[in-house]
Amino acid sequence: MKNRAFPKTKKLIVANWKMNPESLKEAKKLFGAIKKKNFNTKKIISVICPPYLFESDLALNYTGGKYRFGLQDIHFDSDEKSTGEISTEMAKNSKVEYVILGHSERRENGETNEIVSGKIKKTIESGLVPIICIGEVERDEHGSYLRFIEKQIFESLDGISKAKLEKIVIVYEPVWTIGKGKKSMDAHEIHQMTIFIKKILVNLVGKNVAMNIPILYGGSVDADNCVDIIEMGEVDGLLVGRSSLNPHVFGDILKNLE
Ligand code: PEP
Repeated sequence: MKNRAFPKTKKLIVANWKMNPESLKEAKKLFGAIKKKNFNTKKIISVICPPYLFESDLALNYTGGKYRFGLQDIHFDSDEKSTGEISTEMAKNSKVEYVILGHSERRENGETNEIVSGKIKKTIESGLVPIICIGEVERDEHGSYLRFIEKQIFESLDGISKAKLEKIVIVYEPVWTIGKGKKSMDAHEIHQMTIFIKKILVNLVGKNVAMNIPILYGGSVDADNCVDIIEMGEVDGLLVGRSSLNPHVFGDILKNLE
């Protein structure tokens, strides 16, 4: 399919720096160290998502071509009366190609499926690739977390045409696996969840489009578990938080996945 977000032969490895580091100097140092790491660009696309404040400096001064850039959020319209927001136009002029949307840390602060949906629409219309985060906050014995995920998908993708949905990326990030002191999900369980998510997508957009939407995993990924998650979890890539702030660990993830 022409409009797939990225080729089936590649894995997408996304570094979510969150609200780190504290200065442009440190951001340059971190990216400088990451840049030295080698990986096989035929097999891996690596996207760095720094805070807005540092992204354009890093991206506009980068001539290497090995790394791509993304943002951790974007505004849902281009109205200039939007104090404090970042538009997709600004992003594109700063060499942004991907945008993380609906991250659980934003949802925790009040971002609804409806807001995420508006941002997805705007991102797709601008020609940027939305990396849409979904995932349950906790698990329960009765499986209501499955309905929660279904609702997130239906409401976040609501009103977007099938054709437009060809170019999205979904990240399954169970919130209970994200952050310090947490453990990633078992690779076999990740695989079960990707099948469940695919089924929902098939119902929503039909088999042809659904089977071409890449599904990533996020939540306590490190250099030791990344290969199992990709191979046994059968995912198309990873969203990496803490481990992306350590250039050696992030470099090892890219290297191990070759
Ligand atoms: C995240 O917040 O997107 C994430 C994956 O975090 P971590 O890898 O630190 O669990």
